Amino acid sequence: MTTSIIGYPRIGANRELKFATERFFRKELTEAELQAVAAQQRQLNWQGQAAAGIDFIPSNDFSFYDTTLDTAFALNIVPQRYQDLAISPLERYFAAARGHQSEAGDVKALAMKKWFNTNYHYMVPEFDDDTRLRLDLTKLLSEYREALALGIRTKPVLLGPYTLLKLIRFTGQTGIADVQADFVALYAEIFAQLAAEKITWLQLDEPALVFDLSEADIALFKAIYTPLLAQKQTVKVLLQTYFGDVRDIYIELLDLAFDGIGLDFVEGRKSLELIETYGFPANKKLFAGVVNGKNIWRNNYQQTLEILAKLPKEAVVIGTSSSLQHVPYTVNAETELSPSISRHFAFAQEKVAELAALNAIFFEGAEDYLADNQALFADKRFEHNLAVQAKVNALSAADFVRSPEFSVRERIQKEAFNLPKLPTTTIGSFPQTADVRKNRLNFKRGEISKATYDSFNQEKTKEWIRWQESVGFDVLVHGEFERNDMVEYFGEKLDGYVFTKYAWVQSYGTRCVKPPIVWGDIARVQPLSVADSVYAQSLTDKLVKGMLTGPVTILNWSFPREDISLSDSTLQIALAIQEEVLDLEKNGIKVIQIDEAALREKLPLRQTDWNSEYLDWAIPAFRLVHAKVAPETQIHTHMCYSEFTDIIPAIDAMDADVISFEASRSDLSILDALQANGFRTQNGPGVYDIHSPRIPSIDEIEAVIRRILTKVPLEKVWINPDCGLKTRGVAEVTASLEHLVRATQAVRATL
Ligand code: GLN
Ligand code: ZN
Repeated sequence: MTTSIIGYPRIGANRELKFATERFFRKELTEAELQAVAAQQRQLNWQGQAAAGIDFIPSNDFSFYDTTLDTAFALNIVPQRYQDLAISPLERYFAAARGHQSEAGDVKALAMKKWFNTNYHYMVPEFDDDTRLRLDLTKLLSEYREALALGIRTKPVLLGPYTLLKLIRFTGQTGIADVQADFVALYAEIFAQLAAEKITWLQLDEPALVFDLSEADIALFKAIYTPLLAQKQTVKVLLQTYFGDVRDIYIELLDLAFDGIGLDFVEGRKSLELIETYGFPANKKLFAGVVNGKNIWRNNYQQTLEILAKLPKEAVVIGTSSSLQHVPYTVNAETELSPSISRHFAFAQEKVAELAALNAIFFEGAEDYLADNQALFADKRFEHNLAVQAKVNALSAADFVRSPEFSVRERIQKEAFNLPKLPTTTIGSFPQTADVRKNRLNFKRGEISKATYDSFNQEKTKEWIRWQESVGFDVLVHGEFERNDMVEYFGEKLDGYVFTKYAWVQSYGTRCVKPPIVWGDIARVQPLSVADSVYAQSLTDKLVKGMLTGPVTILNWSFPREDISLSDSTLQIALAIQEEVLDLEKNGIKVIQIDEAALREKLPLRQTDWNSEYLDWAIPAFRLVHAKVAPETQIHTHMCYSEFTDIIPAIDAMDADVISFEASRSDLSILDALQANGFRTQNGPGVYDIHSPRIPSIDEIEAVIRRILTKVPLEKVWINPDCGLKTRGVAEVTASLEHLVRATQAVRATL
């Protein structure tokens, strides 16, 4: 037993699960039909891994929405508001994931947050004083049995108690200390049920161990696992970590009665050093994450073998550094890419094959695999553009500073724009309805001309500009109908990218992204958005925001190349976007939003690395983009989350004039931090949750605005939704936004 997979993508190679689930939401599919699609996908995943010869194949890595939510449901950490709904268990689960509005009731979704340093999002379990833990392993056990019926003995996966406790939001008086013993009892009960099922291995994921750990964290981990592991019966327990190394707790882990420990040798900079310094016990298995679970490049076998050679061979199980859910299914689908490029790619299926090959080389001396792989790396990879490299090298400190300083610009812009108090706006996109997608598809297939394609989008823009005017928005948007995706759209127009057709990755729930791939130095060779913005502005006397994606987000939502630093790649993109910003300004666009939806995503998990490893180049890259604009040009930015309480000074240092961000799902908790830090950037904390189909009432939004005004000075506040509206339906968007404007007007009337 020497190869292991932590988790596999579950959306389906052609996003079958996504489409089936969305049909279920629209009531076009029954629950049984949806379950059948899900079972089919699980079967394909298991059989694919089994055929490749993987020994430890995961089960219960499947999810209809999110595995953290699955674990919360398995332990009955489900707030009463969902329990009270008279709907089926699966509908209840979806109600917690995305909110619910019907005769049965009207409830908001749980909060959603980024999963560690990835673009995947998990649902935040909520624990209140009425929560009663109770075990229901139906999902785990039935999936295990399903695989067994196919002749495949799997290793079920569950989120471990420590990470779960760390991710839970305790909303009442109860805290970790109060429930810790109950968690031990519950997980012990899990061991008992698995033992009864004759399950041999259980993988408990504990990625929270890769953060900086305090003495109290270490004590908590030991206090949970010492008694728990004493009760593990016949089940072997694999402690699986990923996204970094476990330097703060490695020694303690060795003393605990785990049967296997999974370490990340890709992102875990100190994993090897830990083993070399402190050794690894002979009575445990070392699940060595050596094949990158997050990037899309082929593994360099020579380098990997050098790592493996330093590990205790008799203990080693070769594995991926993280779940493969963060990469697409298979390169085989990409038939339109030149093989000279695609042969350097490895998606989930190819990574599984790499594990098998590494296993053959390392344990059986099958050297021919090695020679093929070395030839691949001797090949030329990545396109170079010397002019771009020279521009990056020539940058000096002054290129990153906008003048005059913030408060001077703020005054100039207030006078020039003369907007009402609490100006209303949206984040950029309007619903990408079936006709919008069909227009794009027809154009892509060459069935309609560019002119027909453009004029359709222009009509949409005109409709929505008229609509925004009629409802009373202050700063308008053109609607982004020309964009499939806020990163892919720009990538397609920039030099240096290549694209896939089917390389989808789950972002949250049924939402998937298809990151473009950086295959060279990046340059702007044509305008990116000027025509659309100029057209929209020509339709109205109101301000229309130019709409761009920022360099950090473009890079963070791409698959980056391997041969140059992330910071150099980002600066190349920043120079390209800077040209676009100046072009928009030259063409009369006075407000330009530069979205940095993913800025926080690559923030190192260890706080000690935040500045040196990331913020020190990410923030300047954003500043570079707008440093040269005139004082009367207003720069907006947008972020998709509110978790920047601890980097507020860095957000201010981006030196944007206005920022909008997600806030409603996290109960506006960021506002206190803004206040405490004297945040100077004008800001629009999203007043309702766009990730949910429910329509907020006027009163509800009005109450949110009033709460914002207790924390943020009136002259700083903008009113907007959480995020872009492209995934939502027209009816819910128009109703919600009308409520937003009415609520704003109601508050204004009382000022
Ligand atoms: N401007 C983009 C939109 O509205 C921003 C999307 C995002 O932040 N994810 O779609
Ligand atoms: Zn957003």
